[in-house]
Amino acid sequence: MKIAILPGDGIGPEIINQAIKVLKALGEPLEMESAPVGGAAYALSGHPLPDATLKLAKQADAVLFGAVGDFKYDNLERALRPEQAILGLRKHLQLFANFRPAILYPELAGASSLKPEIVSGLDILIIRELTGDIYFGQPRGVRECPDGPFKGQREGFDTMRYAEGEIRRIAHVAFQAAQKRDKRLTSVDKANVLETFQFWREIVSDVHRDYPDVALDHMYVDNAAMQLVRAPKKFDVVVTGNMFGDILSDAAAMLTGSIGMLPSASLDAGNKGLYEPSHGSAPDIAGKGIANPLATILSAAMMLRFSLNRAEQAQRIENAVKKVLAQGLRTPDIFEPGTTRVGTEQMGDAVVAALV
Ligand code: NAD
Repeated sequence: MKIAILPGDGIGPEIINQAIKVLKALGEPLEMESAPVGGAAYALSGHPLPDATLKLAKQADAVLFGAVGDFKYDNLERALRPEQAILGLRKHLQLFANFRPAILYPELAGASSLKPEIVSGLDILIIRELTGDIYFGQPRGVRECPDGPFKGQREGFDTMRYAEGEIRRIAHVAFQAAQKRDKRLTSVDKANVLETFQFWREIVSDVHRDYPDVALDHMYVDNAAMQLVRAPKKFDVVVTGNMFGDILSDAAAMLTGSIGMLPSASLDAGNKGLYEPSHGSAPDIAGKGIANPLATILSAAMMLRFSLNRAEQAQRIENAVKKVLAQGLRTPDIFEPGTTRVGTEQMGDAVVAALV
């Protein structure tokens, strides 16, 4: 099993090192090879996603990614910005299914902006379609408005579109994920207003016939946003398009209170995937040894489960993370009075020590 390790920028290398440490401690035959990506790659070779890095990512069974981005590259032309590396990897590896679990460990319930009884024990999975929708639909641009009261003025426009095959494949992924959990799937759309999402609803309902053991319900996106903050524990798995998923997954992430705890996976049709924490490169704390490595360690656990077929090893890591939280160890982002403040390295070491 070969893993491409792409540490990236900012806190990326610090947190990736902790995940590597945990993976090595599992005693599995995992081959790991690192390559530069993002600003680090630009500094070395003039491109955020060099050919050699892309080649390694394509050859590997899975990619473990830290984070990219640094304000010092903000003035580069768009194609050379560090963040383009992640978009390039998604495109070249055809990673169309984005998994964002939002789990709130009972020990961290105080970190959420919602009342503990509403969020404590939260465990939901948001699946976002990642390569279609209005973010990629053509035509798009700025043109002269052809009609209506603003005719002749400049107007910006984008195109929302989803092909049947695109909806079917993400629906299959979502139903299969629900089968492995509480067997409940909510498909979020805007079928009351948008043709694209009326079609989405029709196709998701059709795919449902292959999964009679999963309970499917449909929800409009505005209601879903409301329910996420009103009664988030009612959801099990949520599937939605690229734009709605972008917004809802960030809202769900914040229910848990700490961005430093949230892993993510982006999968292709064969379950090969790119695994990364949901947060960015945190340049404000880079090099200080205080970044929370748990989102990256939990991303490594997702990698073992989804791409490397090692669910029992994934569970070992997840149990170890629960254990260190129960022991009261906290990086500064999740620190509360009465707990023990630790740094990035110490947290990684504690997870290794807690593996059974
Ligand atoms: P960010 O997620 O990097 O940081 C937001 C805040 O959360 C900061 O205060 C940071 O210190 C804190 N934080 C983030 N991760 C943490 C961790 N593991 N432990 C403790 N605290 C943590 O978002 P930002 O500041 O908006 O962006 C910084 C850079 O990251 C930008 O260049 C942005 O483009 C990039 N970015 C990259 C990715 C990615 O690589 N997938 C995602 C988002 C942002």
